[in-house]
Amino acid sequence: MDWWQKFISLKSTEEVELKRKKLVFYMLSYLCSLIILYFANQQSGDNSAVKVTLNVLGIFFIINAVLSHFHQCFKVSVILCSIGISILVLYLAYSGGNQNTGLYWILPFPIVYFVFFGYFNGLIGNILVYFALMALLFNPDILEATYRNVEISRFLASYLVAIILCFIAEYFRFQSYVELTMINFNKQKQANTDALTELPNRRFIDNILLESATINPEKYFPMTVVITDIDHFKQVNDTYGHDTGDLALVHVANLLKENCRGSDIVSRIGGEEFLLIFPQTGISIGLSISEKLRQLIEQNTLAYENQSLTLTASFGVSQALTLYDFEHAKKQADILMYDAKKAGRNQVCGG
Ligand code: GH3
Ligand code: MG
Ligand code: MG
Repeated sequence: MDWWQKFISLKSTEEVELKRKKLVFYMLSYLCSLIILYFANQQSGDNSAVKVTLNVLGIFFIINAVLSHFHQCFKVSVILCSIGISILVLYLAYSGGNQNTGLYWILPFPIVYFVFFGYFNGLIGNILVYFALMALLFNPDILEATYRNVEISRFLASYLVAIILCFIAEYFRFQSYVELTMINFNKQKQANTDALTELPNRRFIDNILLESATINPEKYFPMTVVITDIDHFKQVNDTYGHDTGDLALVHVANLLKENCRGSDIVSRIGGEEFLLIFPQTGISIGLSISEKLRQLIEQNTLAYENQSLTLTASFGVSQALTLYDFEHAKKQADILMYDAKKAGRNQVCGG
């Protein structure tokens, strides 16, 4: 699995999408219920059943919205709200509302199903309501209101147009949402990746990883923190050229990456310096993994123009028991890495 995939949900645009849904839900619930309650009580209504039903529905929308602030299941509130809207739509068609004007009030609602459920499920919801409306309007016997035939056909045609237009708008909005999400993910990945080795970079460690460790410390601590630096790398560049130096960096990066666990983080934090993080790993295991990696780098020579180039690296190994120890552990690992250099290079120092 791509290392970035594990962290992508942290910066997900889904949160933005949910926020949009919530804003629409609250605006719609509070605004619509006020309009419903106003018309239910202000009109010179001659039909008391309409008055009662509209009052009940208006109050239902308000209570549903208020309750949604107190529980975590926003989906349930959305489903209840759309059931309420479906009942309102069908009741307005059935009763004619006040003075047979109910059909006019139905037309704005198709957009709501699309906002709540997306273009596909929204379309299904709208089609179900549309068929229910057809079943009602084509059976005048069961209707309380009386409509002229031309009124019914024009209403159904305009309602269908409203559904189609809303579907088109929601479909293309969703497509651009997907595109923007991809652009956002790729840009974030690019900003957090080292271009040469494709390893996570320093920005990734300082922002994304520390944020993840703050949210889920149990996933990371106790943690072993390792700094490793290739020995005499300047000589590699000077002897074989900068391009070979680059190849050598990729070679070491791949060795480190391929020989660590999927949950470990191998990052490039400087020219020929790597920061390795072994989550949920005590110092003694961290030291033995580092020793294994040191030997692998030494043994896996880099093939270069019929020669084999032997690289070595020095390791400093420290540990962080909590998030607060992390910066200190990093500094400690750096000091220990320099101790390894001073002690002759190609070795692991830690404790
Ligand atoms: P030591 O054993 O003490 O670590 O010696 P060193 O030569 O590895 O360390 P020094 O810091 O003197 O040199 C590091 C070299 O790494 C210098 C720089 O040219 C090279 N370097 C840094 N980034 C890159 C890179 O992206 N590509 C290449 N080819 N070389 C790089
Ligand atoms: Mg070096
Ligand atoms: Mg260095």
